[in-house]
Amino acid sequence: MIRLPNTLAFRLTFWYTLVVIILIMIAFSASYLSLKKKLNYNLENDLIEDILEYKILYKNEGLDGIKQEIEQEMEWGEEKNFFFQLFDRNGIQIYSSDLSHWKLLPESPHIIKHVFSSKNFVLQTTNIQGKEYKAKTIYGLISPNILLHTGESTESIQNTMTLLSNVFIGMFLIVIPIAFVIGWLMAGHAVKGIKEVSRIASEIEKGKLDRRVSVSSQRDEITQLVNTFNAMLDRIKVLIFEMKEMTDNIAHDLRSPLARIRVISELALSNNNTPKNLKSSASDIIEECDRLLQMINSTLDVAEAEADTFQTTKKKVDISQLAQDACEIFEPMAEQKHIRLACRLDNNCYIYGNIQNLQRMFANLLDNAIKYTLANGQVDVILTRSRQNIEIMIIDTGIGIPENDQARVFDRFFRCDQSRTHDGCGLGLSFARAVARSHGGDIDLSSRLKNGSCFTIRLPATNLPDS
Ligand code: ADP
Repeated sequence: MIRLPNTLAFRLTFWYTLVVIILIMIAFSASYLSLKKKLNYNLENDLIEDILEYKILYKNEGLDGIKQEIEQEMEWGEEKNFFFQLFDRNGIQIYSSDLSHWKLLPESPHIIKHVFSSKNFVLQTTNIQGKEYKAKTIYGLISPNILLHTGESTESIQNTMTLLSNVFIGMFLIVIPIAFVIGWLMAGHAVKGIKEVSRIASEIEKGKLDRRVSVSSQRDEITQLVNTFNAMLDRIKVLIFEMKEMTDNIAHDLRSPLARIRVISELALSNNNTPKNLKSSASDIIEECDRLLQMINSTLDVAEAEADTFQTTKKKVDISQLAQDACEIFEPMAEQKHIRLACRLDNNCYIYGNIQNLQRMFANLLDNAIKYTLANGQVDVILTRSRQNIEIMIIDTGIGIPENDQARVFDRFFRCDQSRTHDGCGLGLSFARAVARSHGGDIDLSSRLKNGSCFTIRLPATNLPDS
């Protein structure tokens, strides 16, 4: 069995050619039928006109005139193609043209009788025995006592129709291969872009992650596909880079506490250890383990906040009160570092949210602001309400964040090099942003190195009734 190529280009060509074939067939059938109808109509009209002409001729020139005219017509035309018969009221033939080609002309006394009685003509399409083609005949009165029966073979109509069919078949045999070739070229052109995308995709699968599909100047669907495909590859590349960086950061952050645990354990195992030293080693190990656990829990919290699994625990929260409480909690820490902590909060600002996560979001941002601000610095918390949003700014005069790092500080485990001397694991800002986003808001950052930072939280305000 012949197996046809199972490609999109072949299928497109196949359907295109099929459509062309169907359209040509429809066009041919329509023109064939209408031409045939028109030719038959013309022939019938000619026969009716003959009856009328002979009627006038009989009136003017009598039977002899009619006979003369018939003889002349037979001389001019091809006699095998038509005939004339004249009948009287009794159905007896009184005259006829040469009927040698129409020997088996059927006799129809009942039609003759009917025409004499009704005075209407009768048109017929008859099969004449021994003749290849049908004939169109007419019975009509040319005088009250004389009936003309004349007819013509449909051979010329059939010849015209056969000629038309032959022209069509010839055209069909030329047009179909041309349509197939054009279809094939068009389909090839249309799927060129898709082929290119699949070629590049297979190269990428083999590890060449930098390969991209070249974009054509045309603004068609394939170009859109190529652009989306390239954008997706760029995004995947960034994600791979971020994941690698995150894994490196995790490894780095896990290594230090694990190394410390190992050193403490080795010292504990060494000789001459007093019970007091062993107890202190055990408590140091617990402390390091707690730090590791806290890091792992924070990672899970960020994942939870990003997935926004807190829908069921959300309720109306007085965010002004929450910010006020956070400032009061961090006041002693700020005082200890000789930092002025000032709050300017609009009252009665409510949002619909998860209170614990919002508290932790404030805590993370205030903790950072105080942690990364030097003695005698200032931290301001400003809360304002617009028509739809609540805006909370946490501004510090601290060490600031280098411009290159500003887009990445919200990534998990990212820490600026300059802050590695401080405690922390690079999860606080990722958690804060995940919480803001899970409440339909976001956090922006503006910062200047050595001048300070401003984190702006925007949350949609609510006017929900008390719950
Ligand atoms: P960390 O536990 O390290 O503070 P965060 O996710 O809270 O983790 O912050 C990520 C990094 O962003 C910090 O390591 C620090 O380098 C930088 N950063 C965050 N807040 C501030 C700030 N207010 N001033 C300067 N740097 C900051």
